[in-house]
Amino acid sequence: MKVGIVGTGAVGSSAAYAMVMAGVGSELVLVDLNARLAQAQAEDLLHATPFAHALRVRAGHYEDLVGAAIVVIAAGVNQQPGETRLELLGRNARVFEDVIPKTVAAAPEAVLLIATNPVDIMTQVAQRLSGLPPERVIGSGTILDTARFKALLGEHLGISPFSVHAYVLGEHGDSEVLVWSEARVGGVGLAEFAQQVGRPLGPEVRARIDDGVRRAAYRIIEGKGATYYGIGAGLARLCQAILADERAVFTLSILNPEVEGVPQVALSLPRVLGWGGVVHTLTPTLDPEEHRALRQSAELLKRAAQELGF
Ligand code: ADP
Repeated sequence: MKVGIVGTGAVGSSAAYAMVMAGVGSELVLVDLNARLAQAQAEDLLHATPFAHALRVRAGHYEDLVGAAIVVIAAGVNQQPGETRLELLGRNARVFEDVIPKTVAAAPEAVLLIATNPVDIMTQVAQRLSGLPPERVIGSGTILDTARFKALLGEHLGISPFSVHAYVLGEHGDSEVLVWSEARVGGVGLAEFAQQVGRPLGPEVRARIDDGVRRAAYRIIEGKGATYYGIGAGLARLCQAILADERAVFTLSILNPEVEGVPQVALSLPRVLGWGGVVHTLTPTLDPEEHRALRQSAELLKRAAQELGF
């Protein structure tokens, strides 16, 4: 099964590496404006295959994406000193005006997995430019935020994060919503579980976990300039779920007809992912404060998309 990656910088190449390590798909095609970079990444990755999984990895052009089941879009430009968020968004939208039509022309059946930040807006841009149904243009959204939430809860409670069911919804960014009210462990409500194991979740612990989830990217960027291993692993996991038609639940960003009264906005909700993309979107149960926070997140994203002309 062929997977394409357009944009082979830090995020795109980390996704490719995670796919080689986990054995996701059988063929990887790397495309970048910087053809030498794509070539070098492909060669380096190919050398990892004898130690992991024998994927066929090669650099290529858009026409080499023909037949791909998934194309990961990780192409973008970095924020320049003094550049506003909106200016950066405008430049990334222009990158997508180049990348998305060429990708869709070569691989009209592919699911597009969008990783470029700000991912919710870029997903909306990609959906518009591609003309594909929203279920097939999927932003990585809050998959990492949800993973961090589960990991930090698991750590505090002394249990495996795999046994924690908790979600982060809305924007992948400052306005994201940690859904505490419906978090569960082994079928037991979170607060009740915490009491039962003698590790209560007081306001201080909640504030620490909230900060750990919401501010993680800032800390990583301060320390190493960019984040890529986590998102790379997450993208590989999404590809695996699509290729195997797993119907697993992830918090993914796609263009929603309406969220909390806000029409046509891309943000993360829990969604069932399988062959061909998002199979179902779930309507989460939220408390009034979480409803309010999700509406705020939707309004913020809607405004940003409108400023950009989308
Ligand atoms: P990130 O940390 O998000 O991966 P990088 O700058 O490392 O950011 O990678 C972004 C990649 O996107 C670069 O390799 C760059 O060459 C590529 N890119 C930028 N514009 C285009 C484009 N129009 N088509 C294809 N690739 C592009």
